[in-house]
Amino acid sequence: MTEQAITFAIQPSAHPVPAAARAEALAEPGFGRVFTDHMVTIAWSDGRGWHDAQLRPYGPLTMDPASQVFHYGQEIFEGLKAYRQASGAVVAFRPRANAARFNRSAARMAMPALPEDAFVEAIELLVTQDREWVPAAAEHSLYIRPFMIATYVGLGVSRPSPEYLFAVIASPAGAYFSRGVQPVSVWVAEEYTRAAAGGTGAAKTGGNYAGGFIGQLQAVQHGCDQVVWLDAAERRWVEELGGMNLFFVYGGGTAGAGRSARLVTPALTGTLLPGITRESLLTLAPDLGIQVEEGAISLQEWQADCESGEITEVFACGTAAVITPVGAVRSSSGGWTIGTGEPGPVTMRLRDQLLGIQFGQLPDPHGWVHKIC
Ligand SMILES: *Cc1c(COP(=O)(O)O)cnc(C)c1O
Repeated sequence: MTEQAITFAIQPSAHPVPAAARAEALAEPGFGRVFTDHMVTIAWSDGRGWHDAQLRPYGPLTMDPASQVFHYGQEIFEGLKAYRQASGAVVAFRPRANAARFNRSAARMAMPALPEDAFVEAIELLVTQDREWVPAAAEHSLYIRPFMIATYVGLGVSRPSPEYLFAVIASPAGAYFSRGVQPVSVWVAEEYTRAAAGGTGAAKTGGNYAGGFIGQLQAVQHGCDQVVWLDAAERRWVEELGGMNLFFVYGGGTAGAGRSARLVTPALTGTLLPGITRESLLTLAPDLGIQVEEGAISLQEWQADCESGEITEVFACGTAAVITPVGAVRSSSGGWTIGTGEPGPVTMRLRDQLLGIQFGQLPDPHGWVHKIC
């Protein structure tokens, strides 16, 4: 299909949240609890393509109970953030990378591609309209959630839905760690897996989460914060956490004194989510003199290399929590501590570097910061 120009109709809210209530929400935003005054929606249908693009008041979507998304789960989403920099400018971090990944998810889920320009424009329109909702406090941001659902009414499954709705909503987000960066503990899922070869593991689709919640529940039942998934074929290779990619730090710490740090992260085998934070760190770390490597790490090596002191730190990364140190691993056969169990220097250095770029306190040599307003 030829790429159409998409023109947005702008309908500002007649009843925005009063300034005092907004200030109260911004004082302690938490995560994904309150939403801004507006949203963007764009419809797609077979034949018409993308149409009816609107910036309109935030509110419920009215849907027929036989809409396909409710039954067959054809849904994809993205997550990115807008930051208020010290200059007052509001910026997004690599929104084109999210647009490209959104279309890769769409292709896997047999959904239509959205022109990248329209994806970025939808975000720019929403954030500009609701710029008062972008927090100013340190490490606070506006979390932006684009998504697409199958809206065709009917239960037939002979072909994918011929109708979709794309939407963008936004929600102020607090600092993930309100009392300083705290390491998380992770539980190794042995009974269940998240994604198999040829499946949807690399697509950002709700079904991956639906199938993974049971692993997260078991992690919490075992006193851990997060689940860590292994590969489905051998149950041997470490893949990622429920919603974050993993990095292993070799050397660089006390145990590795005299040796420079090296980062290892599981390679993109098709069964893990290609995180934009992950990719940014693979680019950023060499700037800081830290070597990077994409490879395969088995659960066994993870334990042995922690015990020998070769692995000094492990952290998880993603848009929502930025960089989160992993302090301990537990499984049905026991567990181990990583380094001292406290946030390590390489983890914290990378975290400061990434946040510094996002908030405009450090130079942006890779052109990742996208000014919105
Ligand atoms: C979104 C997501 C990530 C992190 O991706 P970022 O682009 O860095 O936010 C990692 N794993 C899963 C399963 C995800 O859904």
